[in-house]
Amino acid sequence: MEKINLSQRQKKILEIVKEFGPISGEEIASRLNVSRSALRPCLTVLTMSGLLEARPRVGYTYAGKNAQSLFADYLRRFTVGEVKAVPAVVREETSVYDAIVALFVEDVGTLFVVDEEGFLQGVLSRKDLLKAAIGGSDLLRIPVAVIMTRMPHLVTVEPDLDVVSAAKKIVDYQIDALPVVRETEEGKLKVIGKITKTTLARLLAEVSG
Ligand code: ADP
Repeated sequence: MEKINLSQRQKKILEIVKEFGPISGEEIASRLNVSRSALRPCLTVLTMSGLLEARPRVGYTYAGKNAQSLFADYLRRFTVGEVKAVPAVVREETSVYDAIVALFVEDVGTLFVVDEEGFLQGVLSRKDLLKAAIGGSDLLRIPVAVIMTRMPHLVTVEPDLDVVSAAKKIVDYQIDALPVVRETEEGKLKVIGKITKTTLARLLAEVSG
């Protein structure tokens, strides 16, 4: 009679392979004092989940994947295109005042500045707008074009990029939001969405149940 339940047994197998691998299925079985056939389902699960590698005539080796890297692999399967949110956009000639209003009305932290065809021109963050607001100038008269971060200094992502790479861009460039763009043949960037810290937090919350 087996006393070990499945997950305990899987853990035990991992420990054995880590310590003695490469090791044959027979050897694992004898170390666990169970039959080779009783081990088969566990070994299948561990191999298919990438924790163990099965090499013919060599045996099982530990694939070095811990729970953390498995989670990263899982997250990496989501693309920017799948998780992107709807972007809030304004035009270059929009006043700083109206952009601040848009920030509240659209309930966002970052606005994207686009031309009449929806091509990316700039980005406005909360602090870009705050800085202009405490600068003492006439907010109704200054267009956002004066204060925005503009092309070619914008960090963007394309829809087929994985979300982990997008998250790394947000961290590396210390920004809150990335415009999701599709590049035209002339090299213009059409804004089709956004990835923000909120988008990423929502994804994390969703995949964690
Ligand atoms: P905040 O300024 O409110 O802290 P961010 O960290 O997003 O918000 O922005 C920091 C600076 O980086 C701002 O000047 C902003 O215009 C600029 N910025 C924001 N997003 C991008 C982006 N995707 N590419 C380039 N610059 C950006």
